[in-house]
Amino acid sequence: MQRRAVARTAIAALAAGLTLLAGLALYSSRNTAQATAKIAAAEQVTQQWSQVYLRIGIEYEQLVDFVRADSASGRGPLISSIGSAEENLRWLHAHGGPSDSFQAQALQNTYGGYSYTLRDLVDAQKHGDRVRMEEDAKLAALSASALRKQASVNIARNNLEMSGLLKQAQEDNEAVLLAVEVMSVVDLLLVGFCAVVLLAYQKSTERQARESRYQAMHDSLTGVANRSLLLERLDEAVATTARPGAGTGLLLLDLNHFKEVNDTLGHLAGDRLIQEVASRLSESARDEDTVARLGGDEFAVVLPDVSSTEDLMKVGRRILDQLCRPVDLDGFLVDVSASIGASLYPMASGNAAELLQHADVAMYAAKRNRLGVALYDPRHDENTTERLAAGAELRQAIEGGELEVHYQPKVRVSDGSPTGVEALVRWRHPIRGLLGPDQFIPVAEQNGLIRPLTDVVLSTAMEQMRAWRTAGLTMPVAVNAGADCLHDLGFPAHVAELMDRYDTRPGELTVEITESMVITDPERAASILAELRVLGVRVSIDDFGTGYSSMSYLQQMPLDELKIDRRFTARIEQEGSGRAIVAAIADLAHACGLQVVVEGVEHADTVPILDEIGCEAAQGYLFCRPLPADDLTAWAIARAAVPA
Ligand code: C2E
Ligand code: MG
Ligand code: MG
Repeated sequence: MQRRAVARTAIAALAAGLTLLAGLALYSSRNTAQATAKIAAAEQVTQQWSQVYLRIGIEYEQLVDFVRADSASGRGPLISSIGSAEENLRWLHAHGGPSDSFQAQALQNTYGGYSYTLRDLVDAQKHGDRVRMEEDAKLAALSASALRKQASVNIARNNLEMSGLLKQAQEDNEAVLLAVEVMSVVDLLLVGFCAVVLLAYQKSTERQARESRYQAMHDSLTGVANRSLLLERLDEAVATTARPGAGTGLLLLDLNHFKEVNDTLGHLAGDRLIQEVASRLSESARDEDTVARLGGDEFAVVLPDVSSTEDLMKVGRRILDQLCRPVDLDGFLVDVSASIGASLYPMASGNAAELLQHADVAMYAAKRNRLGVALYDPRHDENTTERLAAGAELRQAIEGGELEVHYQPKVRVSDGSPTGVEALVRWRHPIRGLLGPDQFIPVAEQNGLIRPLTDVVLSTAMEQMRAWRTAGLTMPVAVNAGADCLHDLGFPAHVAELMDRYDTRPGELTVEITESMVITDPERAASILAELRVLGVRVSIDDFGTGYSSMSYLQQMPLDELKIDRRFTARIEQEGSGRAIVAAIADLAHACGLQVVVEGVEHADTVPILDEIGCEAAQGYLFCRPLPADDLTAWAIARAAVPA
């Protein structure tokens, strides 16, 4: 900004300097023209006075000749030249300056008298009057001398004026010349200054352009190439793959569990991890390779000149080895692990875009199958295509009302009476029939569809609960909340709105969470659950004992209920550890003030054991499978009619 202002000022100053120079040149030439005209006029006046002086002189000499002459031819010249200076004096009177005009007029009178004397002399000679002749000759000589003196005085005066004018013009010229010289030097300096400023300005503009291109092509967090530069380099490498048998390799890398680091240690730690990964990748890459960050925790390495898929895999494994060392993040040692997808042009991929797509497919295969590094295999495509297609299809299904909610009762262990139901989602697929959650919940998780799916289940279940109440059945509902709900700070407000809409009372709605879902950000999840509890929503921990954080969740999460996973239930009838584990979990839950629900109860023999252990409620095929709402209503009515 400042440079631009300086450049503009310099150019404006130069323009002003050049204009001044041009003005001086104009002034100088006008001045010279005026002085020349004045001098020419003075010269003309001087010439006229010189003529007057000359003519009077000639007339006087002719007068001398006239007096001496003894023939008519000797007297002729004077007779013809009398009054010869008259015309010059008239001119001077009319065209001379004020003093010349005045002098000329004065001289005209004297000259008139002189001319008269000469004519009288001629007349005296004609009459042979020698005495008059002599008197007239004397008088004429005196007049001629006086006239010539006056003429010469005027000549001298004009010469003086002329030299004055010349001197003035010379002085003016010198002053202008000095000004021109000074201005030329100033202008020259300004030209130099402008050149320097413009050059510096041009350089800074070029530097800025280079910097913006660098920024446009590099990742701001890590300084490695970004997606645009990666694509450019990939195109270049593919276009110049010349050596027979050689190819361009691409490794696509995605960190494992990066989200957890971000969520538990914070975004700054996440950024540091990403920076460390970028620097490790850059260290392990060759000079001719390009390391790029594609966004989030996804990186790519372009490897020009790779001979075979074996070589590519070797490089991939080496990079993974060098990457998988713990990183110290503010005292926490965090394990780094990643999944790498590898693809090679022209062996399997026909162009740069395909190379990228194939590496992406291979990367997902590596992640799914925990391979570390996976080479692209066309068979991987089917899974990816299926995954993408299923995501789009599920989205449409959610929006188009293809989801159904079935309900499975929870019963009191002591008397078998229903204590509520769990809402379990189903997808009535137009072609594949009724699909269970295991077939599409992972698709929803991968495609960010858990929130809309939970919203549909929540509102359907809450509306159903209101319908049951209207029909005279009190049936609390439990809904499984996906992980995304427990990361969304707006979730409690949404639940509050639904509770208001469907007139849900405190204690009637339970939210079931599984520890594996909330593991990424326990603190935020805990605060969201606390907000839900303030609304009167019960919180239940589902599938207890299957994850790794069961104990810490018991401590951190605000809970009302614990559901023992069906894997433990299945072994409950075995003497020894099976039963002991369920009993221990139940004791633990009771010690934490939680109610216990046992899942997956299939055998009648299990119920007395649960009663003995002190579990409050049970859920399982023994009592009822998950049913559509109407069937569940019929079941509940029948159940009420026939006591357990
Ligand atoms: P879950 O929340 O633990 O639900 C209980 C699952 O156990 C249900 O499977 C139910 O049908 C099954 N089950 C109940 N009693 C028995 C039994 O006696 N024996 C056996 N073998 N299984 C029994 P379902 O409906 O297939 O649901 C599977 C899982 O899908 C659920 O486990 C839950 O984690 C998830 N899920 C279901 N609906 C939703 C939903 O609306 N949102 C989310 N995020 N997840 C859901
Ligand atoms: Mg559940
Ligand atoms: Mg469960």
